[in-house]
Parts: sequence; C-alpha cells; structure tokens
Amino acid sequence: MTGIDDLPIRDELRGKSPYGAPQLDVPVRLNTNENPYPLPEPLIERITERVREAARELNRYPDREAVELRTELARYLTRTGGYEVAPANVWAANGSNEIIQQLLQAFGGPGRTALGFEPSYSMHALIARGTGTGWISGLRNADFTIDVEAATAEIAARRPDVVFICSPNNPTGTAVDAGTVLALYEAAQAAKADTAGALVVIDEAYVEFSHRPSLLPLIEGRPNLVLSRTMSKAFGAAGLRLGYLAADPAVVDAVQLVRLPYHLSAVTQATALAALEHTDTLLGYVDELKAERDRLVEELCAIGYEVTDSDANFVQFGRFEDSHSAWQAILDHGVLVRDNGVPGWLRVTAGTPAENDAFLDAVRAIKKETP
Ligand code: PMP
Repeated sequence: MTGIDDLPIRDELRGKSPYGAPQLDVPVRLNTNENPYPLPEPLIERITERVREAARELNRYPDREAVELRTELARYLTRTGGYEVAPANVWAANGSNEIIQQLLQAFGGPGRTALGFEPSYSMHALIARGTGTGWISGLRNADFTIDVEAATAEIAARRPDVVFICSPNNPTGTAVDAGTVLALYEAAQAAKADTAGALVVIDEAYVEFSHRPSLLPLIEGRPNLVLSRTMSKAFGAAGLRLGYLAADPAVVDAVQLVRLPYHLSAVTQATALAALEHTDTLLGYVDELKAERDRLVEELCAIGYEVTDSDANFVQFGRFEDSHSAWQAILDHGVLVRDNGVPGWLRVTAGTPAENDAFLDAVRAIKKETP
C-alpha cells in the first residue's frame, strides 16, 4: 500500500499527523470548545431565508470583497470591542484558521519565522509549517502566564517576523493584559527595526467569554497589530466556518494578495449575516456559558483539583500523574474531554448545565477511585 512518505511530498511534512481531536460517539462531548447550544429556531428560519435568496444567484461568483458581511462584522466589533472600526479594517475567511493561514502566507513563508508562547493553540505552529514558516516555541511561566522579561528577551534574540499572542489562551484559558501585549509589540518592532517591523497577531477566538475587554483598541496607530476572531465559539456556529480579523486597512490589502479568489462562498456570507442579525440572543448564551465556566472552576476546586484561571469557555484542570489515563478514565464514565499533551493537565469545555453535571460526577468518581 502506498503511504504518504512514498509520495514526493515536502520533506517537512514527512512522518507528520494531521491536526484533530478524536471525534468519538459518546453521550457527553466536551473536547473541542464548541458552544453546546444549537442555534435558536428563529435564526434557523432567517438562515433559510437568506440562503434561499443567495441560491437564486449561485450561478454567479460571490461578492469577492464580502462588503456587506465586513460591514456587519465591523458594526459588531465597534459595539462590543470599545473601539470604532470600519469595514476597511475587517477581513473575513473560512474560520479563523484560514485568517491565520492568510496572515502567514502574506507575512511569514520560507526564510521567515513565527513565534508563539506554548502551550498554546497548536494550529499556529502547524499553519506555520504548512506555509513554510519556521516555528519558534517561546515558553510560559509555570502558571501559564507570559513572562514579559523572558519573552521580550527571546524576541530580541530570535527576531521573529510574526508573533502570536493567544488571549484567552487555548488550552490554558489564560488572558493576556494590554501591558504585556504592548511590551511584546514594542520588542517585536525594535528587533526588526531594520525592516518594516514584525506582525503581532492576537488570537481572540474566545474573547467574548473573558472577564476582560477585547484588546481591539490597541490596533489604533499600530499597523503591525492584528486581531483574529471567530464565529465558531461565541456565535455557536463552528459548522459555519467564519473567522475574521481587525487591523489597519493595509493588512487587509496585504492578505488580499494571497487569498483565493471568491474564497468565501455566497452561502457562507448569507449564513453569517443571518447569525449577526441575532447577535443579542447568541450573546445571551455566552452569559450562561460564562456562569457555567465559573461553576466548573468552583466545583473542580471543591473536589480537590487544581484549576488554571480561565477567561474562556473551557477550563484546564489537573494535576494528574498520567493525564492520558485520567482522560481515558473520564471517557469510561461517558464524558469526552481533551488531552492537549500538556503534562499533568486536561481541558474541559463548558457545556450545558446537564453536561457539566455529568462531567463533574465523572471526575468526582475518578477522584474516589484514584485520590
Ligand atoms: N484560535 C484558537 C485559539 C482556537 O482555539 C481555534 C479553534 N479551536 C481557532 C483559532 C480556530 O477556530 P475556527 O477556525 O473555527 O475559527
């Protein structure tokens, strides 16, 4: 049988596995940071209407610039982000993974490097690899915060072209404060002062669940700062595949050099526009999930687990001598959580109250079995 390595594949892809959490058929799935609430019925009706309209013109290519969608995303960001952005500041793609890919295609690539502070969202490193960008793994403190002094020193020494700051960070839930971002931004620009500086990408996929406001206002006067967002989490629309960025309009012009023509289908644009009409209802679910996240933190501590402070819709808990066998033991109780490979820790996504109860029962039972 032919294997991947028998093909004339790029050397850096040999022996590698694709990204992916196990998709197992178990009663309670709390492993991929999805929103547990299905879209409300009136929104499903509105999606149907909007998609029906779009279908009448599917013989034509979609709006390549997605102007109406970017206008509505700019309105949402302005309303919730504490800073006024225009459609020219916003760009949209098929999930924030594609946003990150377009950024690395435009600002990374062969001969260039990107740096992230790990453990963090593993796709940053994987997309770097896919785009031929060298990856530099910066470290975090033992409590998963970023050590500003060590980080700025590392940036000065390694001179990356792109710096990723994930806030709130996946898988730890840790938020990064504005002061840290500004220090890293300045360090990244100073390190590359002989060129046009370095791009700093703040991945805010989970920011709607945070106790802190968005870092959006920081893009003012900083053309090399980009905010990446998604409708997969707060909008409960992971299946839609809609991510977006906010930045200086020049960054939007730059990603247009690498985006595929008509990358965002008319059906996707219509669906996202329908969802944005229902923002208030969807953000109501976010409030419920934040309360459930806080309950998970409290109860996990009460049971005797260590918990990392979380600003996201998930909680990192431990510590386990062998996190993989703890993951399996929880699965044996019918609950799927995530083993992100952070030694000693597992991650659980906040689900519905009933799902969270099932999870808490499982970890209580495990604590009894192996105290
Ligand atoms: N950034 C972070 C930090 C994530 O955790 C995820 C999804 N797990 C993404 C980006 C990508 O999400 P999507 O492509 O669905 O927008």
